[in-house]
Amino acid sequence: MKNLAILGATGSIGSSTLRVCATNPNLYQITLLAACRSVDKMFSLCRLHQPKYASMYCSEARLNLREKLRNVSSKTIVLDSEHELLQLLASNEIDSVMAAIVGGAGLKSTLAAVHAGKEIFLANKEALVMSGQLFMDAVKSSGAKLWPVDSEHNAIYQALSATLQETLGYCDLSGQGVRKILLTGSGGPFINKPLNEFSFITPQQAVRHPNWSMGKKISVDSATMMNKGLEYIEARWLFNTRAEQLQVIIHPQSVIHSMVQYKDGSVIAQMGNADMRTPIAYVMGGTQRIESQVDSFDFFNSPSLTFMAPDFQRFPCLKLAIDACYVGQQATTTLNASNEVAVDAFLNGQIKFTQIAELVERVLNQSKCNIPECSIEALLEIDLQSKLAAQVIIEQGLLC
Ligand code: NAD
Ligand code: MG
Repeated sequence: MKNLAILGATGSIGSSTLRVCATNPNLYQITLLAACRSVDKMFSLCRLHQPKYASMYCSEARLNLREKLRNVSSKTIVLDSEHELLQLLASNEIDSVMAAIVGGAGLKSTLAAVHAGKEIFLANKEALVMSGQLFMDAVKSSGAKLWPVDSEHNAIYQALSATLQETLGYCDLSGQGVRKILLTGSGGPFINKPLNEFSFITPQQAVRHPNWSMGKKISVDSATMMNKGLEYIEARWLFNTRAEQLQVIIHPQSVIHSMVQYKDGSVIAQMGNADMRTPIAYVMGGTQRIESQVDSFDFFNSPSLTFMAPDFQRFPCLKLAIDACYVGQQATTTLNASNEVAVDAFLNGQIKFTQIAELVERVLNQSKCNIPECSIEALLEIDLQSKLAAQVIIEQGLLC
């Protein structure tokens, strides 16, 4: 049995991971559960799964959890600090890590596990968007085994040859006969909404994705299609694509989860029901296919599959992300940071849906991008400065 750490255990991916673990109880020992501040949820997860360790980012939540666990004589040890969490992730007590914290908050812990050469199940796309080349270099030099969990990247991985699967970050796509990676996206809940209604979109409408059930931030990102933009950058790093080798295709039914087009004309697609337990079971099974409890796809009661090109006027965030991808690492870090602030502000009713793209664009335009060498410290500084810049723009009411 491998020892598993689940970062972001109380979230949507965390709970799907725990369900896959419960279906396959002999594969993983749940050694660490980590989350931010939801004490009640973490308390019930600790009661149910009895991890050796639990970690809460928020210090008040940490104290509350420890108190609650003590009252029921639980053996779970609540870690004292982020430093202890990073040390544990790098220690012999952990073999595999589900990286499912939302946002840039997941970068340090994911990278700690990468540097220690662990098996990484990567759901936290923002970590890779923020640190691209550094992340992939660390995977290579530490010998960490990286598995893409994001459904599109998992689909692409499944459609690639073993040689390409084993050289993530440095794939020679054309040498292996790949013409293009086709990244599919549903277009989210507003694919058919009249454009003049976009500024009235409410948070409740934006978090209701037609096909997938997910956390709030990624649901809003899906509605603006920033999610597809982040995934574009994620794919660029994972599969070492050049611009002409990566294309976004809108596929509203989310039956195909992405495809690889080969130079002989073949297209290999991975398809199935839209349920994250499928890619999670794929990565957790390693070389074996394991049970996920996801229903088989029903070909006789399915919608017709349709495809179209993305509309950048409707989804300016997607264009901003693709452009940032080719400007460089500082631009993608800035894009990600300002988007995190924008999504939060939208969910809190501070800005309109259409102002998400406007805010990201403004922060990108005013960022200097003049740090010559990218270190993680420099990227964290850009992340911080971009978030502050976004907050100032909101507070000063500078958005249209
Ligand atoms: P979620 O909001 O449901 O859960 C987020 C988790 O992160 C929670 O457990 C929260 O406590 C934890 N967290 C937040 N800040 C933290 C911090 N500072 N320290 C420790 N833990 C912290 O989000 P989700 O939908 O599960 O998404 C998680 C990640 O997976 C995101 O990066 C998302 O883009 C990616 N992803 C999600 C899906 C999906 O279907 N939900 C699909 C593909 C990729
Ligand atoms: Mg995805």
